[in-house]
Formats: sequence, structure tokens, C-alpha cells
Amino acid sequence: MEVFKGTKIVNGIAIGKIKIYKAPVYEISEELVNDIAKEIERFESARVKVQEEQNALYEKEMKAGHKDTAGIFEAHAMMLDDEDTLIDPCKEIMAEGHTAEYAVRQAFDDAARQFSEMDDEYFRARSADVIDLKNSMLDILFGADTANLQGTEPAILVAEDLAPSETVKLDKSLLLGLVTRLGSSNSHTAILARSMNWPTLIQCHDVADDWDGKFAILDGYNSCIYIEPDQNIIDELSAKQAEDKKKEEALQQLKGQPSVTKDGRKVKLYANIGGPKDVKAVIENDAEGVGLFRSEFVYLNSKTDPTEDEQFAAYKKVLEELSPRMVIIRTCDIGADKTIDYMNLEKEENPALGFRAVRICLTRPAFFKRQLRALLRASAFGNLGIMFPMIISRWEVQKCKGLLQECKVELEQEGIAVGKYEIGIMIETPAAALCADELAEEVDFFSLGTNDLTQYTCAIDRQSASLEPFANTHHPAVLRLIRETIEAGHRHNTWVGICGELGADPTLTEEFLKMGVDELSVNPKSILPLRGNVRNVDLSKYKTESPKAEEAPKAEKKGFFGRLFS
Ligand code: PEP
Ligand code: MG
Repeated sequence: MEVFKGTKIVNGIAIGKIKIYKAPVYEISEELVNDIAKEIERFESARVKVQEEQNALYEKEMKAGHKDTAGIFEAHAMMLDDEDTLIDPCKEIMAEGHTAEYAVRQAFDDAARQFSEMDDEYFRARSADVIDLKNSMLDILFGADTANLQGTEPAILVAEDLAPSETVKLDKSLLLGLVTRLGSSNSHTAILARSMNWPTLIQCHDVADDWDGKFAILDGYNSCIYIEPDQNIIDELSAKQAEDKKKEEALQQLKGQPSVTKDGRKVKLYANIGGPKDVKAVIENDAEGVGLFRSEFVYLNSKTDPTEDEQFAAYKKVLEELSPRMVIIRTCDIGADKTIDYMNLEKEENPALGFRAVRICLTRPAFFKRQLRALLRASAFGNLGIMFPMIISRWEVQKCKGLLQECKVELEQEGIAVGKYEIGIMIETPAAALCADELAEEVDFFSLGTNDLTQYTCAIDRQSASLEPFANTHHPAVLRLIRETIEAGHRHNTWVGICGELGADPTLTEEFLKMGVDELSVNPKSILPLRGNVRNVDLSKYKTESPKAEEAPKAEKKGFFGRLFS
């Protein structure tokens, strides 16, 4: 037996075989070669192989009766015959003495960029197809085996690191637990792991390829993984796993109970989700609403820029299924660690401080308006909150609201129903927290994004594993900004929630209630334990000066735009 330490993200025990997950990363040489004919031959042979693969997938999907998916593979196979767009540009690059790999990367990326800039939605969507084909061509040219990255049986997945886009694509039914050599506790991958409640260990530096296929136990409680554990460990941890199951069952008693302190202070307990597939968990865990629907996962889960109709369908489904609960949908927060090929974003030196969230949306109004129209159309089917992320200035909020209003007018002219909705912003930058009084005049609610607020206040990259020793999620500066934001919100009749990971921290529940927070939005699995915490708090020992938003005198809707929307 061997034991290796890591940093736990999610408690819990996973027992099973290990599967090493390795996504290929290619270093493409820019050196020139002499044998041009050989490169052209390699290119041709890869092209034919990818085409055969695509045709085989087409046949398989047709047999399964999935005509739509089959059509994608058919189109892929046809694209690989396109001389003007893909083949000739590759050949021209190879004629200059570049390798087939280099030519594929350059020519396919170029074509993808051209597609992505087209006005027509259909052609824009082809950009992602070209990127897919580029990856398949590179897999063949580099001789990589990418079939079954995750294996075919349930396993503890062990990886160097995982990007959010890889994590969302994992087959959940095959995942017992997750171990990575790198990673940080506040990354989106860690957040996804928490929301799925997978026992997870990061920064397990001893991860080794020869673990593949070995029997192991991941012990989240003790932040370690046992490889080929002894029988006494198997017995002990199997018993612990059974005990966890019992505790989980006991928590069910809290379903249907109010989230109220001993002295009668109510707080809304909402859930964080990534898409329609999470609605089940919201209901199962008795969340009172959704405080953060990270809409970018709708984009990350899609091979192409989702159309207005596709987005509308996703939002409507969530709103309808959860009605009359409130559902707060955050507009697309792409950028930083959440990158998407089809967005063709430039590489940045400091992506966390870069082109992200509303900064992208306000620069690409057509892209943004597709989402706003989808949200407004969905508003007719439930109780919607629309929330803008990464705000630092009042003008950004006004601009977002202006575009929303523009979309509303367009829809009304088209005879499409728009329902009621609240407007809110994320407070996740120190700038927003410090200007909360001013921003509160623009919106109905604030939601504190403590993951980014901590990153930007403490100047600690949330992605960095090596900075973890310096990170303090309870940093007094962050707690002070949270308190002051709640107070500022309440001064302006704006209710305030917390949707960052800190909201689920049981050691802070009493503190947040004391500050007067109106809502806590956490991963669905944390709802019932959190309700248990809330019900154990007694605030009567404190004198609370900050009134709750619902108790504050109701002013008219705020500001010029607020009146327009009422
Ligand atoms: C946050 O920053 O706290 C937040 C909830 O947003 P995200 O984690 O998606 O950046
Ligand atoms: Mg954030």
C-alpha cells in the first residue's frame, strides 16, 4: 500500500480503480524542413484518415437514428474536401517548407477565424467545426490515441490538471472521484467538482502514470489517496463511506423546513447551477431558488456559438421547471480560465485581468444581444433575475441595461412576450464593492462573487496552486468589503446575496447573517447542511443595526433605466 497527500476540495470517500486521463498537448515546431513532398503526403494521409473517421461516425449516428448529429459528421467529412478553404492553404504553407502540423494549425485557425467573423449565424457556427477538424488532424499527425480518454468503467480519474471545458464534458456516470497534480481550490474546475460532489483532491504532486488501472481509495477527509490499500484501510473507509450515506439520509429531514434562525431571521438559500441538467439537484436538495446560473456553461457545452433559440430553450427549461422559484441567470462570463475556441479570443498576458465577461459582451454587442433577447423571451416563463458579471463602473451597468432595453423594444415590436424580471450585478471586484452605493441605485440586487472578490482584493490568482499558502479566504479586507456592500445595498433598498464559494463556508454562516445578508447561493449539495447551520444560529445576542432589504422602506424603482423597466 502507498499513501499520497494532496489538498482536498470535496470531502467524501471514493473507492475503485484509477484511470489516468491525459489530453494531448502538442508542441508544433516552426523549423523548416527539406522534404516538402513527404509533408504533403503526411497531410494527405491524415486528411483521408480523419475523413474516414467522420464517415464512420456518420454511419453510426444514422444507425442509431440520430440524424442531427449524423449531419455534423457528414458536414465535417465534406469540409475536408474543400480545396479553397482548407486544402490549398495548407499546401501553400507546406510549399514554404513548413511541417504538415504547422500548416494545419495555421490554415485551419485562419479559416476558423474567417468563419467566426461572418454575419451569417450558420457560417459563424462552422468555425467550431474547423477547430474540431484541426484537433483531429493533429491527433493523427502526432499519432495520439484519444479514444476513451475517460475509459469505459466507473473510475477515480487522475489527471495533471483539467480545464473547465474538459470537466464539463466528463461522463459523470463514469466518475467516482477526481485527483489532479495541479489545480487550485478556487478554480472553476474545483467549483464544478464541488457542485457535483465528487470526492476531489488537487495538488497531489506524486500522481504517476503507473497508477493506471490500480485499485485505490480516495479519502477526501484526510486529503489523501491510498494506492492498493491494505484490508484494514478498505474496511475502515468502506464503513466511513456507508456512514456518509446515512448522514446524507438524515439531512433529508431538513427538506421543507424554513431557512430561519432561532430568533426568526429568514435567509433565502439558493443554488448555483451550470445548466438545465442541474435542475434535478436544485429540486432534490430543496433549494429555494437559483442564485447563480453560470450561463457560460451553456456556451462551453456547445461546439458552436449557441443561437438565440438554443439559449432561449435552455433558460426557459430552467425557469419553467423551477417556477415559481426565482432563477438568477448571469450573462456570459467567458474569459480568464473559461476559454472557448469558437470565440477566437486573443491570448493575453494576464487573462484574469483581461478581456472577460461584460468586457467581451459590451465589445461584441451582436453576441451579447443574442443572449439578452433569449433571456427576455425566457422571462415570460418564470421568475427571472438577470445578472451582469465583472462590473467595475456605473456606465457598464447602464450600457448593459441600455442594450437590454433595446432588445425588449425589438421583441415587443416583433410581438414576442416579455415577462417581469429583476436586474442585478455581481460584486466581485474591489471597485464595485467600494462604489456599491452608486451601483445600488441602478439595480434590484447585488450578488457577492467572493471567489473573484478575494482574488482581486488580495492580488492572489485563484488559479495558482503555488499561491495557496498566501491565500486567506477569510481575509479581513474581503470580509469588510462584504459587510460594506451589504450595508450599501440596504441603504438603497437593494437586496444582497453571496454566490461565491464562501457562502457555503459553515464557519461564516453566523457572521454573514449578522451582517444582514439576504440570500446565500451555494452548490446544491450544500443547501441542506447550510439550512441546518442557519437553524442553529441565534442572532438575538447581537444588536443588528443593518435592516434587511425587505424591511427597508420601498423606494420607487431606481434611476432612469430602472423606471424604464418597471
Ligand atoms: C465569484 O467570482 O465568486 C463567482 C461566483 O463567479 P465565478 O466563480 O464563476 O467567477
Ligand atoms: Mg466571478
